[in-house]
Amino acid sequence: MSKMIENLFYSKMGQTLMNAVGVKKPLTLQRYQGETPWVKGEVLLAHEASHALQQVLKDAEIKSQVFSEEDSSSYDALLMDATEFKTIEQLQSLKTFFSQHAAQLPVSGRIVILAKAPSYWSGLEQASVMEALNGFTRSYAKEMGRKGVTVNLVYMEGQISHSLATPLNFLLSHKASYISGQPLYVQSHNGEPASFNWQQPLAGKVALVTGAAQGIGAAIASTLTRDGATVIGLDILPAKEALDATMAKLNGISLAADITSDHVCQDIQEALKGKTLDILVHNAGITRDKTLARMPDHFWELTLNINLNAPIQVTQRLEQQNLLSQQARVICISSISGIAGNVGQTNYAASKSGIAGYVRHQASLWQHTGKTINAIAPGFIETQMTDQIPFMTREMGRRMNSLSQGGQPQDVAEGVALFAQPNSQGLSGQVLRVCGQSLIGA
Ligand code: NAD
Repeated sequence: MSKMIENLFYSKMGQTLMNAVGVKKPLTLQRYQGETPWVKGEVLLAHEASHALQQVLKDAEIKSQVFSEEDSSSYDALLMDATEFKTIEQLQSLKTFFSQHAAQLPVSGRIVILAKAPSYWSGLEQASVMEALNGFTRSYAKEMGRKGVTVNLVYMEGQISHSLATPLNFLLSHKASYISGQPLYVQSHNGEPASFNWQQPLAGKVALVTGAAQGIGAAIASTLTRDGATVIGLDILPAKEALDATMAKLNGISLAADITSDHVCQDIQEALKGKTLDILVHNAGITRDKTLARMPDHFWELTLNINLNAPIQVTQRLEQQNLLSQQARVICISSISGIAGNVGQTNYAASKSGIAGYVRHQASLWQHTGKTINAIAPGFIETQMTDQIPFMTREMGRRMNSLSQGGQPQDVAEGVALFAQPNSQGLSGQVLRVCGQSLIGA
């Protein structure tokens, strides 16, 4: 029945009716199609780039130009470096630059603003200016979402350095089509910039993806494979057929195991055949929804155990057994339900915000090692999990964001692949929302 209503809703007649009452069909977002370098078009800079930013743009092979009255060439993205802003007066340039140029951006155009992270603010006025950039970004993302354009803010922890190259590239590319209104914190790094392998940035890496049989996990496995990694896909025995089919397509390794079992790390070790893990993605997760008063104990226990306890235990045990490489990248899947809360999801939301706490603390413990850990908090993503939701609730869920549509598993997978990069050493302890700037928990 629910599927029938959905088909009717998306039929030509349904859409004509919806148009008549002002509900527009969402724009088709541009997604990454293998472009090398990732940013295809030109980026228009608000000001002449500093020497450090010029170097980042060069390393990242981003084509850029500074605005000039004579030059009328087209561009796909706008970039403003506001890291040196100190006065409220300087904020005026946000209005001048963006109102003059944003209208020319195509669908899935990109806007990125660079700011200074809180520990580097000097004085009251600069603190308020840097925080003002956050409010501006979030509001402007809501306005530009109607055109499918995303607006994001990068806070530099320290000086602009080469560690900005990968995240900047990502946010300016079609890999970030469903990320908008978000801050990303980048730690500065000295030393030599790592070279870019645009096509296969994960070449030679070994990855484990849990819950890889379907949905977001299958998309993550496929994306990491596309980027050059050898992937071990893990899922429970009842999902073995789907898992085998997914992994066969990817030339990957299929591992039927339960992440809560006592011997899962032994199973992983056997699948690794003497290698260590470079990338560990804790994607497996379940929902067992009921309001708290009606929730059976096993709904609570199962959800907390699979979604929260298992990722912590498995990571710890793999580290103790030296099965995580020195530069390991661990990525967990949280949820915006964990940020905002949701009726009937006390167990799920607790598990997913627990993941955010775990990631932040583990990142601080790994601060002086080569390992990083981050989380992605997806919003409404079109998968079998969200397919279970009754149609009207589902339609509201997928529309309640600045881009007026649900995300694709691919959108989450691209975020995971960003954190998985060897060049993403400047990103750790973050929870990045991939939610089209959902109103939930915004
Ligand atoms: P899904 O139900 O389609 O896939 C989850 C996979 O995890 C399944 O293949 C399942 O068999 C596996 N799994 C469950 N328990 C396991 C266990 N004990 N050991 C090993 N594997 C196990 O879900 P999805 O929509 O693809 O979601 C993937 C992740 O993203 C989950 O953590 C989910 O909470 C999170 N998430 C999804 C959405 C969304 O909109 N779909 C939104 C926010 C967060």
